Amino acid sequence: MNGRKPQAMAEFRQIGSAGDEAAFATTNIRRGTRIIAEAPLVMVPPVSDDEELSEFLKIVNTLPEATVAEMVKIFCQPSVANGIKDNTYVQREVWGFHKARRWKDNDGNILQGKKLQKAVKKSLNLCAIYLTNNVQLGPAGKYGEGVFSLYSRVRHSCVPNAHNSWNPTIGRLTIHAIHDIKAGDQIYVDYTGNVCRTRQQRAFSLSATWGITCDCTACTKSQTDQLRYRMVVLDQALAAYTCGASKDLNFEANHGIPKIMTAREALKAAEELARLLRRQNLHGMELCKVYRECSQYALDGCNRAKALDYARKELELERTLLGMDTGHLKEGLYGAKYWFEHLQKKM
Ligand SMILES: [Zn+2]
Repeated sequence: MNGRKPQAMAEFRQIGSAGDEAAFATTNIRRGTRIIAEAPLVMVPPVSDDEELSEFLKIVNTLPEATVAEMVKIFCQPSVANGIKDNTYVQREVWGFHKARRWKDNDGNILQGKKLQKAVKKSLNLCAIYLTNNVQLGPAGKYGEGVFSLYSRVRHSCVPNAHNSWNPTIGRLTIHAIHDIKAGDQIYVDYTGNVCRTRQQRAFSLSATWGITCDCTACTKSQTDQLRYRMVVLDQALAAYTCGASKDLNFEANHGIPKIMTAREALKAAEELARLLRRQNLHGMELCKVYRECSQYALDGCNRAKALDYARKELELERTLLGMDTGHLKEGLYGAKYWFEHLQKKM
C-alpha cells in the first residue's frame, strides 16, 4: 500500500441533494488491495433478534458523544428511516429502554416533557441508522453486528468492484478491490451478500431494506437476468444435494429444480455456477465458495488433483478478497489456506 493510509485510497463525496454519499478511488487501485480497514463505531455482540435493539440502545448510550455524532451523520433514505421510526416494535423498544432507565439521562437527571420527547426522538433516529446500516460480523453474525462510518458511505452494486468483510483477527472491517479500479471510479460493494438472486428478488430486498433502486448493469440489462436465474437454480440444486433433500422422492416435483444425486453431478453443477459467475464479472466471495464446493465434490469423486486445483483457485481469490490475515478462518478449515494445506497433506 506504499505506506499510504488505507482511507486515502478512497474519498467520499455527496451525490444528489438528499445527503447520500459515494466512495471514489483517489488513485489507481490494483486488484486485491485493501482499500479500507476500519473499526466499528458501535458493535453489538451476538444476541437473539428480540434483544438486539435494546442491546444496541444500551451500548450506544455508553459511547462518547463524538462517536454518536459520527453515527448520526450516516445517511439513510428518509422513506426507510421514517418507516422504522413509526414501527410499533421499534417504538416499544425505545420507550422500554427509557423506562428501564427510570426516565433518566446519562447524568442521572430526570427526563420529562420536551426533554423526554427529544431523547426518544434521538433514540428512534439512532435505531433507524442502526437498522439500515448494521453489518453482520462474520457468517450469520457469529461475532455480532457493527456500524461503520466509511463502509456506510460506499454504495451498492449487484456487480461490485470491491468486497467487504469483517476480520476478527485484526478487529477491522476490510474492503478489498475485486478488480483493478481506476482513479476517479466509484467504489461499490454488494449490500445483499448473495449474488444468486434474480433482479426482482434483489430489487425487493434493496428497496425494502435500504430504499435503493439499483441501476447497475445487472439491473438494467435484461439478458443478464437469465444468467442470474440459472445461478439461482444451480445454487438451490446444490444446496438440496448438500443437505440431503434431493434424495427425497418428491423433491423434483416439489421444487422444480434439478435433482443432483452424485458428487460427479454436483461437481458439474458447481463448475457451471463458477463459469456463470466469472462470465458476469462476479469475482467475489460467492466464487470463492463455489471453488470450495468444486474442490469438495472433486475430492468426494476421488479426483484429488482436481480438488487441489480448485483449492488453489480458492486460495488465490481469498487472498484477493480478504488478504493474508485469516487466522480466524482456521477452525473447521473455513479459510482457503487451511483447506489447501489439508488437501496437500492428503496427496
Ligand atoms: Zn443492481
